[in-house]
Amino acid sequence: MAKRALITGVTGQDGAYLAKFLLEKGYEIYGTYKNYPPNLWRLSELGIADKVNLRELDLQTERNCTKLLQEVRPEEVYNLAAQSYISVSFEQPVATGEITGLGVARLLEAVRNVNPDIRFFQASSNEMFGKVREVPQSEDTPFHPRSPYAIAKLYGHWITINYREVYDIFTCSGILFNHESPLRGLEFVTRKITYSAAKIKEGLQEKLLLGNLNVRMDWGYAPEYVEAMWLMLNNPQADDYVIATGKAYSVREFVERAFGTLDIEIVWEGKGEEERGIDRRTGRVVVEIDPRLFRPADINLLIGDASKAHRELGWAPKTSLEKLVEIMVKEDLRRIRSGNRFNGP
Ligand code: NAP
Repeated sequence: MAKRALITGVTGQDGAYLAKFLLEKGYEIYGTYKNYPPNLWRLSELGIADKVNLRELDLQTERNCTKLLQEVRPEEVYNLAAQSYISVSFEQPVATGEITGLGVARLLEAVRNVNPDIRFFQASSNEMFGKVREVPQSEDTPFHPRSPYAIAKLYGHWITINYREVYDIFTCSGILFNHESPLRGLEFVTRKITYSAAKIKEGLQEKLLLGNLNVRMDWGYAPEYVEAMWLMLNNPQADDYVIATGKAYSVREFVERAFGTLDIEIVWEGKGEEERGIDRRTGRVVVEIDPRLFRPADINLLIGDASKAHRELGWAPKTSLEKLVEIMVKEDLRRIRSGNRFNGP
């Protein structure tokens, strides 16, 4: 019989890629969304919208989780649902704590009550390292979260470990460093850059507004990160793993590569908030700084050390940043040229 998996947050970037990955492995997939009607653009782009059994779930309500597990009876649960926007978490710290933090406990309680043999994956975040204590960060690096989002994720991380230690449930926490793709939401800086660059190329947008250009991030390719989730749940031993590329690039470099893919060379002029990115060929300003986009408390250099995942799961990143940017820009250009059908909200 086919294995059955439940993916919370299946309408998000990772949920869509994980659903596709597991379907290809022969799983039967149940996936949850929060907002009705479900936003299916990602599942549609991957051609699997009609292959996922969709259910509504709000992680703010405990009863929902129990009822869902009783109905679906999954062997594996992947908890990808979250209020995942850092900026929103500063505006809505309580709701973020409820969904991204306590939501994990609600699901784990449901697992314990309905079937403690369920294997459980929690999507933890590099943001938990925040004001970093060492570079690169591994599973042993102390945490210092710098946003309500990261603090909620830290609760989710420790409650996942706690259910493993106290109840002997097979739970794994993946400390995921940033991972991007053409399915990333437009609110995230990488996709904002690739989408804007493609629109500027097509003459549909004038400028791209960004915050701190010098922030460096460890950016991987999302489809590879969902494979790591599955590897964790299908390993003989439950444990926690950093999933990362081990390389960091600045937002500035990301911008240069994105425009470069479109044959636009950027030259930088000015300093600080006055800095501007100029299209060398036309002399037009295409990138400007918007101080409102700076974070209230910036994070330090987040670079992950995924050697434990390499050693114990055989996982390693394959896609270079150059290739990732190219994949994202080309896909955005294609969408725009074909009438922007699946750009999502
Ligand atoms: P995403 O695109 O923001 O998707 C979030 C999902 O959570 C959506 O399906 C959303 O449903 C659902 N959701 C929101 N509020 C909910 C609630 N109250 N109850 C139940 N579901 C709710 O996230 P992603 O980029 O795929 O990331 C997947 C997970 O990995 C998240 O937990 C994220 O925090 C974590 N993570 C991601 C990264 C990264 O770089 N992508 C890095 C570290 C950790 P609707 O579509 O209905 O709103």
